[in-house]
Amino acid sequence: MSQIVVAKFGGTSVADSVAMNNSADIVLSNPDVKVVVLSASAGVTNLLVALAEGCNPDVRYEKIEQIRQIQYRILDTLPDSNVVREEIDRMLENITTLSEASSLASSLALTDELVSYGELMSTLVFVELLRNRNVDAEWFDVRNIMKTNDRFGRAEPDVKALGELCEQHLQPRLANTLIITQGFIGSEAQGRTTTLGRGGSDYTAALLGEALKAVRVDIWTDVPGIYTTDPRVVPKAQRIDEIGFEEAAEMATFGAKILHPATLIPAVRKGIPVFVGSSKEPTAGGTLVCKKTTNPPLFRALALRRKQTLLTLHSLNMLHARGFLAEIFNILASHNISVDVITTSEVSIALTLDTIGSSTSGASLLTNALLTELSALCRVEVEENLALVALIGNKLIKARGVGKEVLGVLEPFNIRMISYGASSHNLCLLVPGDDAEHVIKTLHHNLFEQ
Ligand code: ADP
Ligand code: ASP
Ligand code: MG
Repeated sequence: MSQIVVAKFGGTSVADSVAMNNSADIVLSNPDVKVVVLSASAGVTNLLVALAEGCNPDVRYEKIEQIRQIQYRILDTLPDSNVVREEIDRMLENITTLSEASSLASSLALTDELVSYGELMSTLVFVELLRNRNVDAEWFDVRNIMKTNDRFGRAEPDVKALGELCEQHLQPRLANTLIITQGFIGSEAQGRTTTLGRGGSDYTAALLGEALKAVRVDIWTDVPGIYTTDPRVVPKAQRIDEIGFEEAAEMATFGAKILHPATLIPAVRKGIPVFVGSSKEPTAGGTLVCKKTTNPPLFRALALRRKQTLLTLHSLNMLHARGFLAEIFNILASHNISVDVITTSEVSIALTLDTIGSSTSGASLLTNALLTELSALCRVEVEENLALVALIGNKLIKARGVGKEVLGVLEPFNIRMISYGASSHNLCLLVPGDDAEHVIKTLHHNLFEQ
C-alpha cells in the first residue's frame, strides 16, 4: 500500500457545513490521507462538559437543543440524511439520560461517557457528508483500538495494545476505504469510555500515526501554523515555517493550545513529521514540526499556561535533613499531581502545580485531603491565579546575556519564580495571572519584533 498520512481536524474545522466541506476538500485532495481523526463540532464539548456538571431541567433542555441544532444544521444541507438524523437523535437521547444522571450524582466516568458523544456525532455527520459527495468512507469507533487506563478525564493510552489492535482492525481496512474516526476518546479494560483530556484529538492523531507508521500527521485547525506566540494575544506574532520536535514539544507542554501537550510524544518516538495548517486557508502553508531544522534561533516562541498554583512548603526539618523532598513528591504523586517548576531554599521549597491541566472535567486536583497530608509535614502556603510564561528557544543555557535581555524588559512586573537551566530550550517565569498577557506582549515586542 502507498504511504499513510493521518489528518486531524479540530472543532472549528467541523463546526458547520462550510467548515466540514472545506475539511472534506482537504482530505480528498491528498490520496495518501487514509485516516481522518475528528474533534467534536466547535462548542459541543463545552456544552457536554456543562451538562456533566449537572444543571436544572430547563438549562439541560436548552443545552441539548443547542447541540441538536449544531448537528442538524449540517445535516440540513444534505439531501438524504434521515438515517443519520435518527442515529443523532438516539445519541441525544443517551445524552439526556446521562445528563439527568449527572445532575443527581456526577462522576468522572459519567463525564467521559457524556462528552464522548461530541466526537461520536461529528464523525457520523462527516461520513454522511462524504457519502453525499460520493466518497466511500467508513465510520470507525476508535474505542475498539484506543485502550487506556481508567484515569477518567485524563486517561493514558496503552501504546502497545494500540499497535496490535490497529494491525488487526484498522490496517486491513485502509486498502479499500477512507476511515473516519474520533479523536479524544478511548476505552478502559472494562469497556467504559475514557477521554485523553481537553484538546486530546491531536494526541489521538499522533498515536494513530505512530501505530500505522504514517509518513506524516496533519493537524488542521483555525490558524495557518504555529506562531511565535498565540496570535489572539499578539496579532503581530509571526508564523514559524519549520520547528524542531523538542522546541514544539516545550511549546505544547507549556500551554501553546495549538497542540495538545502530549501530541509530540508519539511523533518523536517514531520521527514522524507533524504539519499544522488552517483548514480555512489550506493554501496558506503552515508549520512543519520535524526532527532537524536549519539554524534554529536563540529565541523561538512564547507560551502561556494559565491557572497555575504555587505551593510554598516551609519546614525547619528540611535543614540538613535528607528525604524531605522525596516525601513531598511521593504525596503529590499519590494524588496524581505533576510538578512543573520548582525552587528550593534551606528551609522551604516552592512548586508550581498543574492542578487542572487538560483534564476533561476541569476539576482541581488540589484537594483538602492533599493539603491535610502536606500540612502534617510542613507549613503550607497556597497562591492561586498565577500563570507560567515560557520562553522557548535553543541553546539558551549556553548564551550570554539572556537573563538581562529577558528580565531587563520585565521591570514593571512582579516575577514570582524563575526556572532556567534544566533545559536548553526553555526559560520559565511565574507571574500573576492578571499580568500574564501583558508580560507576553512585552517580551514578544522586545525579543521577536525588533
Ligand atoms: P482545534 O480546535 O483546531 O484543535 P485549538 O483552539 O485547540 O484548535 O488550537 C488553535 C488555537 O491555538 C488558535 O486559534 C490560537 O489561538 C491558539 N494558539 C496558542 N498558541 C499558539 C501559537 N503559538 N501559534 C498558533 N496558535 C496558537
Ligand atoms: N473535543 C475535545 C475538546 O474540545 C477534544 C479536542 O477538540 O481535541 O477538548
Ligand atoms: Mg486543539
